Amino acid sequence: MEKVSDYFGSMVFDDRVMKANLSARVYRSLRKTIDEGAKLDISVANAVASAMKDWAVAKGATHYTHWFQPLTGVTAEKHDSFITPSPDGGVIMEFSGKELIKGEPDASSFPSGGLRATFEARGYTAWDPTSYAFIKGRTLCIPTAFCSYGGEALDKKTPLLRSMEALNKQALRILRLFGNGSVKCVRTCVGPEQEYFLVTKEMYDQRPDLRFTGRTLFGARSPKGQEMDDHYFGVIKPRVAAYMEELNEELWKLGILAKTEHNEVAPAQHELAPIYSTTNIATDHNQLMMEIMQKVAAKHGLVCLLHEKPFAGVNGSGKHNNWSISTDAGVNLLSPGETPYENAQFLLFLCAVIKAVDDYQDLLRLSVATAGNDHRLGANEAPPAVVSIFLGDELSAVLEAIETGKPYRGTEKTQMKLGVDVLPKFNRDTTDRNRTSPFAFTGNKFEFRMLGSSNSIACANIMLNSAVAESLKIYADRLEGAEDFETALHEMIRKTIRDHKHIIFNGNGYDDTWIREAVEERGLLNYRTTPDCMPHLLDRKNVKMLTGQGVFSEAELKSRCDIMLENYCKAVVIEANTMVDMARSQIAPAVESYSLKIAKTAAAKKALDPELACGYETELVRKLSVLTDRIAVKTGELEAAVTALHTAEDIISGSEAIRDTVLPGMDELRLACDEAETLTAKSEWPFPTYGDLLFGVR
Ligand code: ADP
Ligand code: MG
Repeated sequence: MEKVSDYFGSMVFDDRVMKANLSARVYRSLRKTIDEGAKLDISVANAVASAMKDWAVAKGATHYTHWFQPLTGVTAEKHDSFITPSPDGGVIMEFSGKELIKGEPDASSFPSGGLRATFEARGYTAWDPTSYAFIKGRTLCIPTAFCSYGGEALDKKTPLLRSMEALNKQALRILRLFGNGSVKCVRTCVGPEQEYFLVTKEMYDQRPDLRFTGRTLFGARSPKGQEMDDHYFGVIKPRVAAYMEELNEELWKLGILAKTEHNEVAPAQHELAPIYSTTNIATDHNQLMMEIMQKVAAKHGLVCLLHEKPFAGVNGSGKHNNWSISTDAGVNLLSPGETPYENAQFLLFLCAVIKAVDDYQDLLRLSVATAGNDHRLGANEAPPAVVSIFLGDELSAVLEAIETGKPYRGTEKTQMKLGVDVLPKFNRDTTDRNRTSPFAFTGNKFEFRMLGSSNSIACANIMLNSAVAESLKIYADRLEGAEDFETALHEMIRKTIRDHKHIIFNGNGYDDTWIREAVEERGLLNYRTTPDCMPHLLDRKNVKMLTGQGVFSEAELKSRCDIMLENYCKAVVIEANTMVDMARSQIAPAVESYSLKIAKTAAAKKALDPELACGYETELVRKLSVLTDRIAVKTGELEAAVTALHTAEDIISGSEAIRDTVLPGMDELRLACDEAETLTAKSEWPFPTYGDLLFGVR
């Protein structure tokens, strides 16, 4: 057995490989590009391309691709081979700096929301040198950004990199004010915890709903669900363990720091968490991880479900986005410090996040909005659709002491002095027992828990970075012009607490009374669905902030709003069509054929003895008949609701019609079918049941 340390990153053109395969001059120059964003010289690019190609070919690669993340939510690649004909009739393997830096995949079928007119439909991809190239199968993958010829972002990476730069710029201004001149750059780091379900391939293949939509659209509850809590952190079954083992190996080869794995709350549900890394790399890695999870599952006769709500009645899957801000020297700016100055600096960054989350609740909410995630948020299993912050008792008490000017009764003996006022000293509070908060401080990072399991983490981090950059900008503007830094600092921290404390909530986020309090007393936003929140992307204040931070242009925002709503509509329409099809071609015939059998049984019994009442059969046939009628009616109504979507004037009213007519119609059809399932013999049911699916992997 090979040691992990021997093969970790073996498929990555990482720093070790670069150092070994590039000349000192080229290596230094490339590092400058990676670390400081310096422009990449074409001669350097040529040398890097050549070394990259030699390394990849030696590992069996024949093709390369600019690997990018269009707005479909998955990753895209178009493979080109390295081969170039040589005069002697053979081929040589070639790859130039130009091909490394910039590709032209054309890719005119990706959603662009009207940004690319068809006459200039071509887009181009540009290498993100801060994310290492890697080999997948026989292809060298080059992580890239995807833009239109006009430079508009058509992907998720471009605005993510812009948001990281925005935060870097503003955070550096703040650090300079605190006398820190040596920090070169500030980056956000993310560790995304990924939840997923495993079902057997055999059962998956028998369910059109799983195959077409990633979730079950029908299914009566299994007699056993998650009520015993016996799955959470339970013993991992051998087949799942074998899967996890191979998954880890594949991820490690790709330099992905897969670290923690365990069973989740629902049966058949599991979690995999990597060690955190810089946000754009974590984003690339998470996309790659989701892809590898599915690939490895196939090798084990399994299917990995990444949908947010594959099964009704048991928990759905999310993705916790653990987020922090750190300097190039590795100092975590969200970690309470040792000295008074460090602590004041920590408090300022903490306040920047509190202000950002409150001012841009809507952006955070819509950054995680998808048709799938709408089934989770607010469903008593995931954070509500209301955004609030958990700080824990100790930190909350510190903030209260600052706001009221009263001394803080903490555990520390010494109090911290800052300028004319006294700021309390406090300990790091690592006891986060609140799992119901959408946005929780967990000692030295924030955990944003609203993301859905299939979401790219890019969108949430774009909004988070941009909003925090905006808070920091406002702070820096004020502090740079202040007569007395310390007084101004203290005043500003105090003002932030006063203005934004209504977003802080340490109680149970799953409680209905909280939602009432949040909305009615605190005035927090509660956008329950994607159509409710998405249009707010274009609210004046949001456009102003995002364009002001240089993260999106107004045209990009308009196109993104359209694309996200279109994705929502398409996803639900596919679900509705799948339901109509399954109800008509599988469920209704199964129920009919079963009731015919029962009716025949009754007739046969009566033929034997006309005195027999056959009460059971008669009642069952009657019930099933009522249900098949209802199924037929509800199928027709659902079909009509989908057809009526064509009359919607625009994408917003289309998405609202889906929310108000199609989704309720789907629920009604499901109700009738699920009831029929409970009355029909299992042997007659056309696909595996919830019990089969949830407990089928052994
Ligand atoms: P949980 O108790 O929520 O399961 P873990 O301690 O397992 O949390 O960590 C969850 C994730 O948080 C991991 O991916 C971990 O690498 C990440 N993480 C830890 N520290 C930081 C940090 N400073 N910044 C960002 N992510 C972090
Ligand atoms: Mg967590």
